Amino acid sequence: GQCITHCPVGALFERNDSPKVWDALGVPNQITVAQIAPAVRTAWGEEMGLSPDEATVGKIAHALKKMGVDYVFDTTFSADLTIMEEATEFLQRFTAGELDKRPMFTSCCPAWVRFLQSEFPHFLPQLSTAKSPQQMFGAVTKSYFAEKIGVNPENIHCISVMPCVAKKDECNKDLYYKEFAGKEVDTVITTRELVAMMRSESIHKDNLHDIPFDTILEDASGAGVIFGTTGGVMEAALRTAYATIMGRNPSPDDFAMVRNSAKEENGILSANLQIGAHTVNIAVTSGLAHARTLLKQIEDGTAHYHFVEVMACPGGCVGGGGQPVRHGEELAPQRGQTLYALDGDAPVRFSHENKDVQALYADFMGEPCGHLAHQLLHTSHQKQ
Ligand code: SF4
Repeated sequence: GQCITHCPVGALFERNDSPKVWDALGVPNQITVAQIAPAVRTAWGEEMGLSPDEATVGKIAHALKKMGVDYVFDTTFSADLTIMEEATEFLQRFTAGELDKRPMFTSCCPAWVRFLQSEFPHFLPQLSTAKSPQQMFGAVTKSYFAEKIGVNPENIHCISVMPCVAKKDECNKDLYYKEFAGKEVDTVITTRELVAMMRSESIHKDNLHDIPFDTILEDASGAGVIFGTTGGVMEAALRTAYATIMGRNPSPDDFAMVRNSAKEENGILSANLQIGAHTVNIAVTSGLAHARTLLKQIEDGTAHYHFVEVMACPGGCVGGGGQPVRHGEELAPQRGQTLYALDGDAPVRFSHENKDVQALYADFMGEPCGHLAHQLLHTSHQKQ
C-alpha cells in the first residue's frame, strides 16, 4: 500500500528527517525520547534479513539506544491511552443520542482526517476528538514524564518512528499546555529512514538483542499493538467499551469478527453488536476509495453506523507509505498477522488494564475525557 499524502509532487514521500535526529542527539543537555509505532516492528526486519520472529521491537529499542537516544518507548502505551479516551468519548456520545443519525469516526490516521477536511468537511464534527497515539505520546512525554524526571519540556526532543509519511505533517501541531507551547513530537522518521540510520551507523542485526523499554510509560497491551492493522482500533475500543458497559471483561477474542474488512466485497466490514441492552452498529474499512463509498452510503441513508474505523492505507498502518516497499508484493496482510500473534501472546490484552496508563490517570491526568485529558489528549479537527 501507498500512503496518501496529498502532496502533488511526492516530496513528502521522499523527505528524509534522519539528519534532524542526528542533530538532536548532538545537542548538549537535551533529553531525547523516542517512540516506536506498532506497525514498525512488522516490517523493519524485511530490510535487515530478519524473520518476523527475530525482528522484535526490543531490538529496535537497542538500536536506538546505540545511536544515543536517552529514553525509548513503545507507542502501544499511548494506543492504550487513546482507547481509554476514545471508548469513553464513544459511550458518552452514543448514550447521549448524538450518534443516532451519523457515526463517530476514528481520528488516529492523519491522511483520513485530511481527506475529510478537504472532501467531506460536513462530516468533521463526527470525528473523535481524541488525538492520535503519536501525538498523545508527545503530550504525555512533555507534561507527566517531564515532571517525573524533573526536566523542562523545552529540553526534551521527541522522536517518533512511524510506518507513515503523513505523521511527519501531523506533528506540526502545537502543544498548548500550561506555560509550554512547543511541539508535542519534534521529529518523525519512517521505518525506511530507521533502517537507513542503522546502516549508516554500521549497526548489524547480529549485534542487536532485546532490551526492555524504559519505565514509567512502559506497559503495553495486546489491544494497543493491533492499532497497526485494519480493524485493530475498533477491536481494542470494543474490548474496553464492553468492559465499561458490562462491568466485566469480554473474552479478548470476542470481537475478532472485525479483522477481515479486505475480504468483504466492497472492502467495508459491518456488524451489529449486542452489548448488554445496547445494539451497536459498527463498520471498518481501509483505503480512501472504500472510505468514499462508505461516506456516500451514510449520506444517502443506505447504511447506518454508530462507530466507524477508517485507515487511509489499504490494510492499515502495516501497509503505510513509510514501510519498506517490495515491488509487486502486498505485505500488509502478512504483517497484520504478526500483530495479531503478538496480541494473542500478550500478558495484558485490554487497554484499561495497562498499569502505566492506570498510574498516569491516578497520579496526573484524572478521569478519561476529564478536564486535563481534554487539554492534553483531545483536539478539534475543524480549526485547521
Ligand atoms: Fe499513516 Fe497509518 Fe494512516 Fe497510513 S493508515 S496514513 S500509515 S496513519
